[in-house]
Amino acid sequence: MNALIYQGPNSKSLQQVPRAILLEATDAVVRITKTTICGTDLHILKGDVPTVDEGRILGHEGIGIIEEVGTNVTRFRKGDRVVISCITACGKCDNCRRGMCSHCEKGGWMLGNTIDGTQAEFVRIPQADTSLHAIPEDADEEAMVMLSDILPTGYECGVLNGCVKPGDTVAIIGAGPVGLAALLTALFYAPADIIMIDQDEQRLDVAKKLGATKLINTTTGNTITKAMAMTFGRGVDVAIEAVGIPGTFELCQNIVAAGGHIANVGVHGKSVELHLETLWSKNITITTRLVDATTMPLLLKMVSRGKLNPKHLITHRFQLTDVINAYDTFGNASREMALKVIITNN
Ligand SMILES: [Zn+2]
Ligand SMILES: [Zn+2]
Repeated sequence: MNALIYQGPNSKSLQQVPRAILLEATDAVVRITKTTICGTDLHILKGDVPTVDEGRILGHEGIGIIEEVGTNVTRFRKGDRVVISCITACGKCDNCRRGMCSHCEKGGWMLGNTIDGTQAEFVRIPQADTSLHAIPEDADEEAMVMLSDILPTGYECGVLNGCVKPGDTVAIIGAGPVGLAALLTALFYAPADIIMIDQDEQRLDVAKKLGATKLINTTTGNTITKAMAMTFGRGVDVAIEAVGIPGTFELCQNIVAAGGHIANVGVHGKSVELHLETLWSKNITITTRLVDATTMPLLLKMVSRGKLNPKHLITHRFQLTDVINAYDTFGNASREMALKVIITNN
């Protein structure tokens, strides 16, 4: 089968490899119909993720059709259309049973990390019963791909951890796919204002179309002053950090209101400074989280009923045989005006 292989830092190629097969009775093999590339895949390619070995098939997002199931898989059979969760969950260990599937004793983030991933014609999914979700009859397939990772990540790590509630002022720092997913799902709670902060005018335009009420382009300077003016000097109730660099986390600390929440979503590679000298008395909370994907059933329902339309996040489409070009486009997101790319396997 064709598969996109990680070959060490700054090196990848499309190769013919043996087809994915069942290894355990709880596995399923899924024929991928659509997959996508994540910012995390770019981190891996930079060599930032030491758990990924050379020779690994990348990708942790996608949808497909069940090709084969192990003897202990009870919820799915050959021919079922499924969304693949980026988080593999056994559903039985202590962490899974308290909803923290990201830290499942037999799972967590494995696909495209410690086991072969979804940027291939076929993928093996361990713990299939609790790591796959059936696609509703008339659901839009491209929209379904957004459920594997970015929607649950934006919703769980940003909106739920940030405790967004009606009337809140929410700032989202970073208008990439995950920041925009946080924006779309923050709208469930009717915040009074959503301030989108980014350096890319085109991404801010998309945010405005999706429901952001105020925009700040950081390249024009004075971001803190502008955000404080937009909140009459109070600051924001919720600051969602969706970038993952020290400067954006610092910005969150500068604009959070008393009693507010900083919800970190970004993947950080460097330490940040924590300003307890100003925050100690402000009654704030800071949260971190790896997506658990436990909200998948809720999000599936919202997408299939038309209450949530993540298709706006898709900007480019490629065939799997053209996956290298898809990486070039996604890797130059600003120049190519790219958000999410859809990769189809025919
Ligand atoms: Zn991802
Ligand atoms: Zn588990």
